[in-house]
Amino acid sequence: MVVAPSGAGKSSLVNALLERSPEIRLSISCTTRAPRPKETDGKEYHFVSVAAFEKMQREDDLLEWAEVHGNFYGTPRDWIMRQTEAGQDVLLEIDWQGARQVRSKYPEAIGIFILPPSIEALEARLHNRGQDAPQVIARRLLAAGGEFAHAPESEYVIINQDFNAALAELNTIVSAARLRFRSQAARHAQLFSELGIPHTPAPV
Ligand code: GDP
Ligand code: ADP
Ligand code: 5GP
Repeated sequence: MVVAPSGAGKSSLVNALLERSPEIRLSISCTTRAPRPKETDGKEYHFVSVAAFEKMQREDDLLEWAEVHGNFYGTPRDWIMRQTEAGQDVLLEIDWQGARQVRSKYPEAIGIFILPPSIEALEARLHNRGQDAPQVIARRLLAAGGEFAHAPESEYVIINQDFNAALAELNTIVSAARLRFRSQAARHAQLFSELGIPHTPAPV
């Protein structure tokens, strides 16, 4: 799970990681937020109406959901289940409230918190991204302080100052996670059984 306030660089880092490691799957969240000029439905998010989101909540189709900056965001359960049952590792880009919910269901889930090098840099990145209206940026900056307070809930912290250095750090964490016993056992089930290694429950 990659967690960070808006503008810290999580989408840029995650997208760069996926380009290098296509075997990692990224969960595409549902959101009631309007698409940004450069966003496409089904790519960054599944953009849905509030009514459609509420239906998913009622029908328990979301692994977790949260209200962030006045919009609803949630992780579709079905897709995650299919991936994890097939032994695939999945990456979630979610806020701290969602990370908490996932952690309570899957204690082995790993949290990676992305920090900007300074508040000024965060503000500059939100402006330079050029995708949000000034009042939206102001709201996100205001929320950032509250979000930083939840950094201690994540196991790992990356300071995204130099982009390539931060990307290398993210890659290291994800590579190590993929080598954990339970991940390897799920991915190499046949080898493990040939070698007589005891079976443990499938990972998430
Ligand atoms: P960004 O942070 O600038 O990329 O802005 P977004 O609008 O993409 O995301 C807004 C917030 O919603 C961020 O804190 C995300 O981590 C969070 N978020 C995105 N998808 C999900 C999700 O599926 N579940 C939860 N709980 N939070 C999400
Ligand atoms: P998030 O998904 O956390 O909201 P983004 O990935 O959209 O953040 O990044 C916010 C902006 O900051 C983007 O315009 C991105 O190009 C820029 N950015 C990301 N990482 C860095 C970095 N290390 N140095 C400078 N700018 C960065
Ligand atoms: P943005 O609107 O800028 O794309 O995202 C704002 C925040 O919503 C980010 O912190 C992002 O991580 C969070 N977010 C995006 N998708 C989800 C989701 O599915 N669940 C939760 N809980 N948060 C999400």
